[in-house]
Amino acid sequence: MTTLINPSSIPNLEKTVYTGDILQGVPVISHLGVGELAPGQCHRFFFEGVQMGTGQHWYVPVVVAKGNRSGPCVGLVAGIHGDEVSGIDAVQRVMAQLDPTAMAGSVVAVLGVSRPAVEYTRSHWLTAQGGGSQVDMNRVWPGNEAGATAATRHAGLLWNRLLINNVDMVIDYHTVTTGSDFTLFLFADLRQPTVRQMAELFPAEQMQNDPGLAGTLETALVEAGIPAMTVEIGGPRRFDPTKIAGAVEGTLNVLKHYGLVDGPLGRTAAEVGTVVGDALETIRATTGGFLEMLVDLRDRVIPGQPIARQRNAFGDVVAEYRAGVMGEVAVVARDAVCEPGSRVVQILYSQGATVN
Ligand SMILES: [Zn+2]
Repeated sequence: MTTLINPSSIPNLEKTVYTGDILQGVPVISHLGVGELAPGQCHRFFFEGVQMGTGQHWYVPVVVAKGNRSGPCVGLVAGIHGDEVSGIDAVQRVMAQLDPTAMAGSVVAVLGVSRPAVEYTRSHWLTAQGGGSQVDMNRVWPGNEAGATAATRHAGLLWNRLLINNVDMVIDYHTVTTGSDFTLFLFADLRQPTVRQMAELFPAEQMQNDPGLAGTLETALVEAGIPAMTVEIGGPRRFDPTKIAGAVEGTLNVLKHYGLVDGPLGRTAAEVGTVVGDALETIRATTGGFLEMLVDLRDRVIPGQPIARQRNAFGDVVAEYRAGVMGEVAVVARDAVCEPGSRVVQILYSQGATVN
């Protein structure tokens, strides 16, 4: 059963390649070809990712819901950052609601990209290189199978052998990182008509229209001509049920709109009054000290409004922070101990206009 892959054949390979290994009853694949999978079924795989330093592989759990009728292939990607677990839960809940016998097209769920980061509830990929360092896996896309770090190679494998030959559109699920909290938030390049449509189907609390950030999966996909957006589902490390429910509702709306599943649409951005901006003001601590927050998520703020203060070990106030823009609070620090340079708050606003 083991099939060796000639790297030069990767771009055109339409087949699913089984390595012959079975892990916990689940077949291991080194390449996914959704087109040739049996229709009307859900398929579970472990995708063979990059090797560790001892030669064993990291394996990424993948579920493919393959409909009975032709239609688009939607990728749902979670766990690029390992402490952002609500994305994994949201994607699991979407997949549990799909009936492949009644579906058109297919959904590819990637349930935990950054394996060592997920295992240790850390944001970044832990690498043994240099005596132990970390790589932000959402700055390395589209990856490189011959890259200088395992994380870059892992991204390259997923990009070449799982995503790019299969998916027509992608939703990438995140949360804020450990120590902070976030709203149910979208990053989307609304200049792209399909991305705009996907975003408008999401009952997010807030949305930033932006051209994207180099190295993110979202931006790499958009640059490759595949519509994609990033969904932030609140805070890290624990499930956020209300925001997860919103993310599931938005995802199912996308699947319904593009004809993969039937049924009435849930709430959309217009129905929940998603606040749209095109910039985030990031206020960072100028000094060290304990942080007292004076605002919380979704608070509306005006320029000059106090948003936080810091005290030293003796209780003296050593810094006060004020909003510089009119907007709505999107991210707040939750850790009280606050080093210089740490993010205190992010405010969603519209450049040159009032947030509507
Ligand atoms: Zn993230």
